[in-house]
Amino acid sequence: MASASLSEYPPVLSPEEEQYLLSNLKDWSIAHGLAVRPPPTFVSTSQDPSGVLASTAPVTLFPSLFPRTCFEDGLSLQTAYNELYAAIARDEEWLQGIVEELIEIDDFVGKLWQTHLAVKKEGYVQDVTLGLFRSDYMIHSDSASSASSPGLRQVEFNTIASSFGGLSSQVSALHQHLLAIDAYPSSATETIKKDALVRSKSTFSLAKGLAAAHKAYGQSRSGKPLCVLFVVQDPERNVFDQRHLEYVLLEGSGIRSFRIPFHRTLKDTKLDNEKTLLYTPPHSPSAVFEVTTVYFRAGYTPDDYPKEEDWDARLHLERSRAIKCPSILTHLAGCKKVQQVLATPHSPHLSRFVPDEETARRIQETFAPIYPLDDSDAGREARKLANDPTSAARYVLKPQREGGGNNVYRKAIPDFLKSLPETHWPAYILMEMIEPPPLRNSILRNGELQSGGVICELGVYGVCLWRNGSGEVSNGEVLQNWEAGYLLRTKGDQSEEGGVAAGFGAVDSCCLV
Ligand code: ADP
Ligand code: MG
Ligand code: MG
Repeated sequence: MASASLSEYPPVLSPEEEQYLLSNLKDWSIAHGLAVRPPPTFVSTSQDPSGVLASTAPVTLFPSLFPRTCFEDGLSLQTAYNELYAAIARDEEWLQGIVEELIEIDDFVGKLWQTHLAVKKEGYVQDVTLGLFRSDYMIHSDSASSASSPGLRQVEFNTIASSFGGLSSQVSALHQHLLAIDAYPSSATETIKKDALVRSKSTFSLAKGLAAAHKAYGQSRSGKPLCVLFVVQDPERNVFDQRHLEYVLLEGSGIRSFRIPFHRTLKDTKLDNEKTLLYTPPHSPSAVFEVTTVYFRAGYTPDDYPKEEDWDARLHLERSRAIKCPSILTHLAGCKKVQQVLATPHSPHLSRFVPDEETARRIQETFAPIYPLDDSDAGREARKLANDPTSAARYVLKPQREGGGNNVYRKAIPDFLKSLPETHWPAYILMEMIEPPPLRNSILRNGELQSGGVICELGVYGVCLWRNGSGEVSNGEVLQNWEAGYLLRTKGDQSEEGGVAAGFGAVDSCCLV
């Protein structure tokens, strides 16, 4: 990554070049479903009363530069990460020890745990679980940090509703298309060349994971045709991301799937007396399907549970014979608290799940320093750091939440903590900010072009299908395990959050250097 041209990347476009690139980008995106639905305000202002409008998903004009070795490290570690989280999810006793402290002070975690206990009491009838995971990283470059060496640092590990697999394949194809039609000026094509651009196979690979679960479920018990159920939010702007998976599932594997808004669960599904999950599509009440796999693209945030009935719905699905993606224990394994416990230096936890020393070492190298805010020695140290405005500036404070928009950053941390009773502090973890190297790019979002400094986050997808066994680490069996493509998300360097759906970032692809 030595050449002078890299510091001038991406190139400045003439107005004519920009016009050519943008018109191709906009048309290709819509033609290939690299799109999102408009914001709800459109519906409320009657600009789109019948819901036909879609617009280009926020995308970068250029593929962002990404070090090849880091990229390869991330992809090659994914199967080990899949095994790690599958092992955590089937070690109920260990997880209980981790979430116990949270249950008292975090209602959402508490409800998830109670739901698990209710199903455990009557007995789980499905032993197989599917994980469609995504491990997120940034490149760390700050030598002043206590982290050991520059390289990939994990931001978080997602075990539920890992999104953008559908759009990621499309954006990497878009950048390849723009290269093929000479939309990038010749000054840049020394860098953006064919073997530097990486196509993400995430759509195909994640759909293959759903197909593997569908197959592992086995024969229909009810005599009804089989289907996969996508449990979704309503409304969902990021619907095409999910649709891509549905289409590949049908076209590639001949598997029917249906979308059900989470709040319709109790209306449209029933359990028979063997806890087989039966789905009746509202558009065709005489057609009943037996559900092999419940794929949650909802249910990961308290906002999805406005009524007690919504917890009944989660319990109902968890009790069923369908394979869950993810099960409640797998969902809980994705808590930031679990990540913090694994990242504790010299702790026995990582080696408990990853006995191979070399693999454990490679995983460990991706950890950024993360601290608890509890009563332990490390917790008391971290409380001091978090409450001092100068030291807090190097950290992010995270609750046990998903979906973006929940963290507290840097100097805002001390005041935020002051606003909370101290008994609630252990519901958060304190993580050192990863400081990626400066990069530039242009983002097209809602028709507006913004150029400047950006920060990139690499997500690596993983598919894992496993048997839970008796719940001890040594039991259970991994049935399928593969790395499932990647996602690059890019945000302006002034933004702390990076969520594309939350309105901050854009989807991008890697130009390896
Ligand atoms: P969520 O589960 O809500 O996505 P994340 O842990 O991914 O929570 O945090 C959201 C965003 O905050 C990330 O996408 C990233 O942009 C930023 N972020 C989180 N942790 C760090 C960190 N340690 N260093 C730098 N940025 C971070
Ligand atoms: Mg997350
Ligand atoms: Mg995230």
